[in-house]
Amino acid sequence: MEDSYRHKGMRRQLVKVVRSKGIKDERVLDAIGKIPRHFFFENALVEHAYQDKAFPIGAGQTISQPYTVAFQTELLNVKPGDKVLEIGTGSGYQSIVLLELGAEVYTIEYQKELYERTRFALPEMGYKANFFFGDGSLGLPRFAPYDKIIVTAGAPTVPDALIDQLKVNGCLVIPVGNAKTQQMLRLTRLEGNKLRKEVFHDFKFVPLLGDDGWKK
Ligand code: SAM
Repeated sequence: MEDSYRHKGMRRQLVKVVRSKGIKDERVLDAIGKIPRHFFFENALVEHAYQDKAFPIGAGQTISQPYTVAFQTELLNVKPGDKVLEIGTGSGYQSIVLLELGAEVYTIEYQKELYERTRFALPEMGYKANFFFGDGSLGLPRFAPYDKIIVTAGAPTVPDALIDQLKVNGCLVIPVGNAKTQQMLRLTRLEGNKLRKEVFHDFKFVPLLGDDGWKK
């Protein structure tokens, strides 16, 4: 698929919209401005790619709204070289934002169809992440600890495993709530197993399934 001047123009508009909603981190805005989001859409639906909206990607799941991706990424405060675990690979768009910020990305997806699709699609776009299939509500202990963990599905509670898999001074960004609405939380693991909890505004995500998520 091509990335034309028209697509680039639509992307600049999208960055303006995301900025107007309060995103300030220029690195995050640059990433949104660089990534061809229309590559995740069928040709007939390209018009939708640069609207600030979530969109269905199959298997009952969505590519998150760009503002939401930017908000979570800003909270994560990714530094080049950070080892980041993403729960909910989905389309791979959020993974690419993390890669653009210089993170080493580990990403896990619960739906086989999406895992298979995305682990081939991203390398074709020139992006290299570590893809896993499984229940991310339990984290990915094999490669722990992580500097940062981001959950891109709505959880009923904060899974203990995710806190356990954070480095000291590492943080977890996770939407927690009921099926209709979730509050965005940032939990920072401090020395001596203490946690700092910050609460941000409400979002609406698809459910985090699995052993420490919502039961099917
Ligand atoms: N980060 C994605 C993107 O950029 O497209 C957003 C994907 S969508 C909002 C949330 C994803 O979380 C879905 O693909 C869903 O299948 C996945 N998911 C739900 N529960 C999960 C679990 N326990 N482990 C891993 N992925 C899960």
